[in-house]
Amino acid sequence: MSRFWNPMVAGLSPYVPGEQPSEQDLVKLNTNEMPFGPSPRVIEAIHAAASDALRLYSDPESTALKEAYARALGIDPAQVFPGNGSDEVLAHTFRALFNDSAPILYPDITYSFYPVYCSFFGLEAKTVPLTDGFEIDLAQYRQPNGGIIFPNPNAPTGIALPLAGIEALLQDNTDTVVVVDEAYVDFGAESAVSLIDRYPNLLVIQTLSKSRALAGLRVGAAFGDAELIEGLQRVKNSFNSYPLDRLAQAGATAALDDQAWFETRRDEIMANREALTVGLEGLGFEVLPSMANFVFARHPAGEARALQQGLRAEGIVVRHFDKPRTRDFLRITVGTADQCERVVEVLGGLLAA
Ligand SMILES: *Cc1c(COP(=O)(O)O)cnc(C)c1O
Repeated sequence: MSRFWNPMVAGLSPYVPGEQPSEQDLVKLNTNEMPFGPSPRVIEAIHAAASDALRLYSDPESTALKEAYARALGIDPAQVFPGNGSDEVLAHTFRALFNDSAPILYPDITYSFYPVYCSFFGLEAKTVPLTDGFEIDLAQYRQPNGGIIFPNPNAPTGIALPLAGIEALLQDNTDTVVVVDEAYVDFGAESAVSLIDRYPNLLVIQTLSKSRALAGLRVGAAFGDAELIEGLQRVKNSFNSYPLDRLAQAGATAALDDQAWFETRRDEIMANREALTVGLEGLGFEVLPSMANFVFARHPAGEARALQQGLRAEGIVVRHFDKPRTRDFLRITVGTADQCERVVEVLGGLLAA
């Protein structure tokens, strides 16, 4: 606390990211990164961009990247808003497209950045409980709101909603923006991007951090009606005109153009997720049905915190959320086949002890 702070700073409750431990050789299954590097074409493109051209500002509109997204998703470049990670895109979305006429609605168990943005931008929030089965119940979102946001699949549960349910919500909720945060959609769920032409109040947000193995490049994007995108651009250009540097634009464009790499690695993660689920169930865990690159699992013996600490002592890092409805669960990122086997083996030992 400093007397030089603007008074609002003391009242902030910032997001706390998952640990990035400095020790080498840890099996890092706590922040939903990919266990292998990105497409080699991304590295080549970044090498090529690391030139004297860095003396020049980057393209403020990320034109080539918008076009790559448009090609990859079959949409128009005017329907694309890229940003410095989807977290930044989310921040501009809360600022540009949500309003304070009524509370912002999101699930009680979800991505913990949403409450942070609400309080940062002075928006009232109202959480909508997941069902007893940890599912989002879209019927509960039919109430006055200044905007609606949920991830699909949800985090940290991994459970996906069918597209028909999202479309039914859009048919009822026409006066405020509905944001679908698709950080994990590539691992088996249905994307709502196919609906953006028909619903001018739908914004879909994706990231290259997870399925493209590029968490360190910091690139995400929103997709929606050109007027929603223009609103985001106005906010962005009132804040930082060059959020994506030259290396990020080059690498991200190459990533989106390498569909073959993407499909192979995605399939590998989905196969490892299946093996991890079977392994955990064999130990007596209940594993929620995941469409993401992580699983959310609880054991009848409880003791999730102790299991997390036991794993850590064996060099494996997983995430535990110490909140009433989630404290029995571990969230385990799907790693390589060997890493998934190892986590099951160590958990087996801990439970037997
Ligand atoms: C990881 C994640 C993000 C943020 O991704 P970045 O693009 O790395 O900022 C957004 N939403 C959810 C639900 C996530 O899990």
